[in-house]
Amino acid sequence: MVAAGAVVRPLLNTATIRWLRHLPSGPAILRRRYRAPRVWWPDRPPVEIPADLRSHAGVRRDEQAAQEAFEDEPLHSFHHNFGVAVVWALAQLWQSLLFVGPRLVRAVEHAKRTGAAPTSAPATRSPDEWTDWVRDRARRIGMSTVGFAPYDERYTFAEHAHEAAGPNVIVCVLEQNWESNRTLPGPVGEQTALSTNAEIIEMASQLAEAIVAAGFEARAHSTEGIAVVHHYGVESGLGQMGVNGQLLTPEAGSRCRLAMVTTRMPLVLGAPRDFGIPRICDECQACVRRCPAGAIPVKRTWHRGIEKSKLNLARCFPVVSQVHGCSVCMKVCPIQRYGLAEVIRHRASTGEILGVGSDELEGYNWPIDGRRYGPGQRPKLEPDFFELEVLPVNRDGSMKSGPAPASVPTPLT
Ligand code: SF4
Ligand code: SF4
Repeated sequence: MVAAGAVVRPLLNTATIRWLRHLPSGPAILRRRYRAPRVWWPDRPPVEIPADLRSHAGVRRDEQAAQEAFEDEPLHSFHHNFGVAVVWALAQLWQSLLFVGPRLVRAVEHAKRTGAAPTSAPATRSPDEWTDWVRDRARRIGMSTVGFAPYDERYTFAEHAHEAAGPNVIVCVLEQNWESNRTLPGPVGEQTALSTNAEIIEMASQLAEAIVAAGFEARAHSTEGIAVVHHYGVESGLGQMGVNGQLLTPEAGSRCRLAMVTTRMPLVLGAPRDFGIPRICDECQACVRRCPAGAIPVKRTWHRGIEKSKLNLARCFPVVSQVHGCSVCMKVCPIQRYGLAEVIRHRASTGEILGVGSDELEGYNWPIDGRRYGPGQRPKLEPDFFELEVLPVNRDGSMKSGPAPASVPTPLT
C-alpha cells in the first residue's frame, strides 16, 4: 500500500482529480457501510433547554466589527488561499479519493450546472406554503433537514461575490453514518465524509433544479461553496458553533455535511437559537483535550465581529491531510455521539456531561502507529510532521507575510 501510494500521489492533481468523473461509481453494496441514513430530523421531538444552560442565541456578534472586517478585508475561501495545499491533501487521501472521487467530482460539476433561468411563471403561494414545499422536497430527496436564512454578502468569498441566485439561503443538511463514523480516524471514516459530501451536494442540486422548475431562480453551491455555510447554519437556527469550530446540531452534533441553495423563492426565514451549546462546551472541553495536534484553543476569541473558537491551522491541517481526515474533534463530541437531548437528560440527573472521561467517548485508534489512545493519552507527533511546504502559515496559524500565495483552481470548487 505504501508503494502504491508513492506511485499514485504524484499523479493526482487538479486535472486528474477532475477526470475521475469519467470513472463509474463503486458498487452500491460496497457503499452501504457508510451510506448516509435517510432520516428526516424534524420528525424527532424538540429538545427542552434548561435555564442554567441558556446564554445567547446563535453566536455573540459585534455588527460594527463584522462590517468593518468585510469592508477592510473581504473573505477568501480556504481553497482560494491554500489551493496548492488542498490539492496536495486530496492526493494524500488517495485511497478514499479513488473510490469516492468519481461521485464527488460529478456532484460538484452538477452543482455548477444549476442556476438556469426558470422557463415558467411560479404558482401563487404564500411564503409559508413555499417553505413547506421546500421542506417536503428536501425530505423526499433524502436530506436530514433544511434551514432558511437571509443572504448576507459579508459571508461570501470575494472570488464568488456575484454567484448567489437570490436573497434567500437554504441550508441543506445530511447526517453522516453513525457506525462508520465510529471508525475515525481511518480510511472508512474518511470515505464516509467524502461520500456524504457527494450525497448532499447532489441532493442540493436536485433541490435547486426543482425550485427552478417551480418558477424561481435557484442555484446549488457545493460544500466548499461560495460562502461560510456555518454562518447560515447558525442564522437559520439549525445549531450553534462548538468549541471544535464546527456547527453543532442538536440531532447529530457536527456529524453531518452541509451544502447551500440560494434562491429568489419567497420563504419564511429562521433565526438564531440558543440550544445551550456554548455552556455545554465550557463544561465539556473533550475536543480540546483529545485533539492530537493541540489545535483547539481553550477560550473563544473575537474574530471579524464574531466570538468563536479559532483553530490553529498550522497544527490541524497536517493531521487532517496525513491521518485520513482526522476528525477526532467531531468523534469525541458528546452531542455528536449521543445527541443533545441525551446530554441534557444526563446532565440534569448527574451534573456531568455524558461520556466525558470515558474510553467509549474519548478513546480512538491512531492509524499511524496502530495503537489505541484512551482518555488522558494522545499520540506523539514530531515537529517535522507539521512542517509542510505546501502550507504557507506560521506556527500560530496566521498566514505568512509577503506576497499572497498564488490561487490555483481546486477540483472541488
Ligand atoms: S481535525 Fe484533528 S487535528 Fe484538526 S482540530 Fe480536529 S482533532 Fe485536531
Ligand atoms: S467535544 Fe465538548 S467542547 Fe468540544 S464541541 Fe463537543 S460539546 Fe463542545
